[in-house]
Amino acid sequence: MDGPELDPWLRAQRARARVVIGGVGIDPIRQDELHAVIADAVATQRQRIILNANARAIALARSLSTFRAALNAADIVFCDGYGVLFAARFLGATLPERITYADWVHPFARFSQECGLSWYFLGAAPGIADAAAARLRALYPGLNIVGTHHGYFDRAGSENEAVIARLNAARPDVTFVGLGMPIQELWIQRNAARLDTRVLLSAGACFDYLAGRVRRGPRWMTDHGLEWLARVLIEPRRLLWRYSVDNLAFLRIVLAQKLGGKGRSALQ
Ligand code: UDP
Repeated sequence: MDGPELDPWLRAQRARARVVIGGVGIDPIRQDELHAVIADAVATQRQRIILNANARAIALARSLSTFRAALNAADIVFCDGYGVLFAARFLGATLPERITYADWVHPFARFSQECGLSWYFLGAAPGIADAAAARLRALYPGLNIVGTHHGYFDRAGSENEAVIARLNAARPDVTFVGLGMPIQELWIQRNAARLDTRVLLSAGACFDYLAGRVRRGPRWMTDHGLEWLARVLIEPRRLLWRYSVDNLAFLRIVLAQKLGGKGRSALQ
């Protein structure tokens, strides 16, 4: 799965200890290491695709092979859910921590401020990415957000070309793509080679949180494996069915893997 384009550090890192759950490889990477990978990509001008996996991603990857392939072709897949963290432990492997956008975006903003990394936001309803950028600029003066674009465009035709041209004109170091799973991962994979940006991140609903359009659950839930439940309680009509189906599928995948004894197997 590791292509020749990966640098030695990344190749060694992935070969050493990728944790495989439901056929998806997840890197045991901490937040500070993620920052180092991103800074290195910008310094060496090498493009990196950095995706994230939670229970929903593992469930989706089982039924959608193109999504699974996109995850496994990424340079880094970090753990973004307690479900995945607990499942790894249950399967006899170790992931160091869970990194989730709604929290991580703040330390990453401070890091980017210090290193002078420029950002671009692509995704969410019109106005939301702008509001998210305005909020972050107010919190972190000097944070260089060089452009935004909403996420409701025709991804197959001339609108897609216009979005790419606009992003390329801004030449951001880091691009957050928040189109939801699996659209964002597939969009990144299909368009990455034409994007003049060093780091591509799949940001989910991050802009909605930053803009205050969607409330986030209380800490006692989000820090203890109940982010999904908080999301369901806040947006039941949209998310109840989704999380019921996905969490059940995830449980089934993890149990089947445990019974099959494949906690740290190679990518399938
Ligand atoms: N979205 C978008 N374009 C689309 C579909 C969705 O920009 O065609 C945005 C949507 O407005 C929201 C985000 O993608 O901001 C997805 O949110 P969701 O909660 O579904 O994503 P998750 O975090 O679960 O991946």
